[in-house]
Amino acid sequence: MYIKWLEIYGFKSFCEKTRIEFQKGITAIVGPNGCGKSNITDAIRWALGEQSLKLLRASKLEDLIFAGTEKRRSQGFAEVSIYFDNSDGKLPIDFEEVVITRRLFRSGESEFFINKTACRLKDIYELFLDSGLGKDGYSIISQGRVDEIINARPFERYKIFEEACGITKYKYRKEEAERK
Ligand code: ATP
Ligand code: MG
Repeated sequence: MYIKWLEIYGFKSFCEKTRIEFQKGITAIVGPNGCGKSNITDAIRWALGEQSLKLLRASKLEDLIFAGTEKRRSQGFAEVSIYFDNSDGKLPIDFEEVVITRRLFRSGESEFFINKTACRLKDIYELFLDSGLGKDGYSIISQGRVDEIINARPFERYKIFEEACGITKYKYRKEEAERK
């Protein structure tokens, strides 16, 4: 499973519809300071369901929507779609291509889609549980995260290992079952 491409529209500094293609293997994104490199990883995290504004480097929800510049009008909503190649079936859904989409309006209303069908945030969370790529997965290591892991309290570090070992899924299911 890997990301084939990313479509970003109205998210942070991406005012126009932007499509970023990835190949299998390593992709490096380079550019001058402030050109929007980190906004790309923010877009991925956000579409995967990240709710923490701090982690998304925003102080309010509206900061996620293109604010406009002297020459360009602001956008009314932000939308990010991640297209996955799922031909190895790593994601537990019977499609070779899986696209997840998140949309946010200035009103604060937000929408989620799996393969263009409206869904809940919970469905996205469950789809990526145990894939290593969910919002709590260890596949996105941002600046400062390494220090955080080293300095984490034993319980926090234990949770990171649990996710890496694939135990989180079973714990989540147990908690869900107990709630019902
Ligand atoms: P560095 O090399 O310093 O890490 P970077 O390429 O990672 O830089 P980003 O942090 O991704 O840069 O992008 C920062 C830019 O995004 C800033 O110019 C900021 O003005 C712009 N930006 C962030 N949010 C918005 C928004 N809501 N509307 C318009 N522009 C935004
Ligand atoms: Mg950066």
